[in-house]
Amino acid sequence: MTCGARITMLGTGSAFVTRCYNTCFVLHDTCGAMLVDAGGGNGVLCQMEDAGIAMADIHDLFVTHCHTDHILGTVWVVRKVVQLAKAGDSAARLAVHAHGKALDTVQALCSLTLAPKDMAIASERVTLHRLEDGDAFAVGGMEVRCFDIRSTKERQFGFRATLASGRSVVCLGDEPFNEANRPVARDADWLMHEAFCLHADSGRFKPYEKHHSTALDAGRDAASLGAGGLIIYHTEDKTLATRKEAYAAEAATAFGGRIVVPDDLEVIPL
Ligand SMILES: [Zn+2]
Repeated sequence: MTCGARITMLGTGSAFVTRCYNTCFVLHDTCGAMLVDAGGGNGVLCQMEDAGIAMADIHDLFVTHCHTDHILGTVWVVRKVVQLAKAGDSAARLAVHAHGKALDTVQALCSLTLAPKDMAIASERVTLHRLEDGDAFAVGGMEVRCFDIRSTKERQFGFRATLASGRSVVCLGDEPFNEANRPVARDADWLMHEAFCLHADSGRFKPYEKHHSTALDAGRDAASLGAGGLIIYHTEDKTLATRKEAYAAEAATAFGGRIVVPDDLEVIPL
């Protein structure tokens, strides 16, 4: 497995995709790793297995918001931690970092669906860390500072992670960039920005009606925010065969830095 600071994209799709997994990823630094969201089901376990990432090596989960395509998979992550604990893994522990409503939702989903004996183990092994806008926490040598993306649909937190090397990764969540977050999002080495589709395909996919962006918007924001590189995710899945090249080409008309449009399971060195 590749070592060093990197992102493993477990999924790259938006909510209704069926040909790839919902957007979630692991941010690895030299001595720590954080899972960000879990997609909409137990596919997260399949993606982790295929990526060669053991749940036993993940001790931090960041949940951006309560939409189904991000939070339902967290139940399976918790179940996996419980399964490891039952198998005698004393290191099987997970800290869940999220705003209050997202934590309450994870707790409720687990309470309603896990067996009582498993829920008892989860209550010992899984800790809930309630974040407020601007709060920071450490994962290994990495500092993760969350920020409210100021969604108009559902409260959502993004984050700015400063790696042990000093390099930075900003995750804007799955909605368009809000100017209010310019101070926390500017000058990142890597900017993670959603794009539902190509600007050229706006008539077909109607991204703005869904409160999403296009690859061109992502390129414009990356340029305006002074990003070093741009990672585009959370897309439609009807154009997967041409997505990587076409999205990158469109974003490149506005942004001169490095652009990555990852496929599921792709590893991006940071
Ligand atoms: Zn989403």
